[in-house]
Amino acid sequence: KNDPESVVIEKLIASYEQIDSTKITKFGEFPLSAKTLKGLRESGYHKPTEIQKETIGLALQGKDILGAAQTGSGKTLAFLIPILEILFTQQWTRLDGIGALVITPTRELAYQIFEALRKIGEHHDFSAGLIIGGKDLKFERNRMDQCNIVICTPGRLLQHMDENPLFNCINMKVLVLDEADRCLDMGFEQTMNAIIANLPPQRQTLLFSATQTKSVKDLARLSLKDPCYVSVHENS
Ligand code: ADP
Ligand code: MG
Repeated sequence: KNDPESVVIEKLIASYEQIDSTKITKFGEFPLSAKTLKGLRESGYHKPTEIQKETIGLALQGKDILGAAQTGSGKTLAFLIPILEILFTQQWTRLDGIGALVITPTRELAYQIFEALRKIGEHHDFSAGLIIGGKDLKFERNRMDQCNIVICTPGRLLQHMDENPLFNCINMKVLVLDEADRCLDMGFEQTMNAIIANLPPQRQTLLFSATQTKSVKDLARLSLKDPCYVSVHENS
């Protein structure tokens, strides 16, 4: 295609292979869409934290990632930025349905992620939704169909999958397992396994965790393909 957006996208994609995370100090040095850069700037984000620096390039290159970094290190943007860029480069539209699914252990975390996405994603045209219970299932179900980026808690997501065999995420591109250690600590292991078994295998998966326990490694084995391991300990 020759329209201006396709040309821009071709250029972005062509520069993914040359990303050198060791040389990056500002978000503007990553090959990101103007829409994402503007959203970041307006939200007051200028320099990536260590985990963001280490994972964004790999995620743009299409890799599965197992990312370990302590609480407060900035893991949310480490997956929200790639989600926006992946859907942007796919020229995802509202009509394309669910393109990205973020699973996080609690409603509070889901709200926080949703708020962060609303800010940095402001100039994109994707729809986002929370699937965390509290509304009736049918209401959420109808909403979910119109969402491109769904942020959900494990129990509620599985409930949707169970009650609707046609649960439609067959085209989804990105799965994020956020705070995986906490999901497992909260007893969601079976739920997570069942969710993963229900998702299309053709997808990119980013798994983030503050700690790397055995159960996190088990979940990683089940959900990631040939992952890159990124572990960050500094307080940045
Ligand atoms: P984690 O998920 O690793 O616990 P969060 O993604 O919730 O961490 O981020 C922790 C805090 O750091 C949030 O208040 C967030 O706004 C802030 N933050 C994240 N990335 C950056 C950045 N690049 N520059 C400045 N502040 C950031
Ligand atoms: Mg977090």
